[in-house]
Amino acid sequence: MKCIFHGAAREVGRSCIEVQTAQGNYLLDCGVKFTHDGFAYPDKLFASSKRVDAIFLSHAHLDHSGGLPLIEHYGITCPIFCTHQTLAITRLLLKDSYKIARIKHLHAAFDKVDLKEVRKDARRVKPDKLYRFKNVLFRFLNAGHIPGSASILLDVDGKRLLYTGDFNTRTTRLMRPADYQSIAAEYGPIDCLITESTYGARELPKRPALERDFLDSVRRVVKRGGTVLVPVFAVGRAQEILILLAREQWPCPIYFDGMAKEVTRKILLHQSTHVSNKDILNEMYMKRTTLISSQQRRMLAAKTRPGIIVTTSGMLQGGPAMIYLKQLWHDPTNAVFLTGYQVPGTTGYRLLTKGSVYIDGWKTFVKCPVRKFDFSGHADTEDIKQAIKAINPRLLIIQHGEPESVDHLLAWAKQEGFDARGPAVGDAITI
Ligand SMILES: [Zn+2]
Repeated sequence: MKCIFHGAAREVGRSCIEVQTAQGNYLLDCGVKFTHDGFAYPDKLFASSKRVDAIFLSHAHLDHSGGLPLIEHYGITCPIFCTHQTLAITRLLLKDSYKIARIKHLHAAFDKVDLKEVRKDARRVKPDKLYRFKNVLFRFLNAGHIPGSASILLDVDGKRLLYTGDFNTRTTRLMRPADYQSIAAEYGPIDCLITESTYGARELPKRPALERDFLDSVRRVVKRGGTVLVPVFAVGRAQEILILLAREQWPCPIYFDGMAKEVTRKILLHQSTHVSNKDILNEMYMKRTTLISSQQRRMLAAKTRPGIIVTTSGMLQGGPAMIYLKQLWHDPTNAVFLTGYQVPGTTGYRLLTKGSVYIDGWKTFVKCPVRKFDFSGHADTEDIKQAIKAINPRLLIIQHGEPESVDHLLAWAKQEGFDARGPAVGDAITI
């Protein structure tokens, strides 16, 4: 069996691993990477052959799913295995990415019709259940990252391979954690572990202190009569923030806007044993927040004080967040609380590091306080090391991380006696 890394190797984005086996070629994820001038798709995916027998999709985020329509565009028809929630959310995100590509005049490399084909080829699988396809036995196991997310266990050509996808081993308000200790006990030994390493070289703050700090900070702004803009990622972070806000009674309205609304509806609609606090999320969504339509948005942005506005996008790259910021930036009573990692080059990153954004083409220094709260759906360096130790694989492959993250984990793993590799894009590893 051979694994070829077409993306997310010493980088984050465009996850796509081709698994060549005796009886078929399979893909683990097929994502895109967002660049300053468009998208980067998996590298040389069809360089050796145009054969793909099945795709195993770990979760809905576009850096794992955004290349699926491209496969369809090449006329390749094969089953796409994923969980119910992953399919529902992937469809929303793909549709949205197509829309944004058209609005921004970016080349999406696929047509609208390809999105429909993705739906047709999707095969929904239940978590933990054993399935067979051709020469592969597989299971989707909870990854704790976002609703629907899975680590994928494959038995093929006499080898057992575990692909973590993106994972989190900490309990969050929304997700039950991935449990590699139990996976190892039940399905070990594992011949090859392919792990993500997004935070491979970083420690994240402990949840309880972070949550307290966030709620206290929101309360202070509301108390002084200001409005807090809380930019969130549509999947996972938006819901987590709502569940967190539900812990207190607020003397002001909570507004909920952007794509996060539709994603929340999908999460509430689909059954999942791995999603926590659904009743609280439901109550927030149905009763305690005001859902804002695009018609209401501008009027609301101009007059709401005090208030809490939870809206996409998480890095201020489009979405209603910028419309609100345009009304809120000049008044120091207000605040902007970012709720996750800001990719260099994004508006959120610029706001955080330089204190300015471009509003209607004008460079604008934001006068209200801006803070980042490091909520994360990923494991940090200690969590990843614990997971690797729990699985104790014969071969360890570290990917989905910037070079410094991969190198940090590689050095640690080698010291611990693991046979560890950190492939670059285009590399092949025989297992
Ligand atoms: Zn992800």
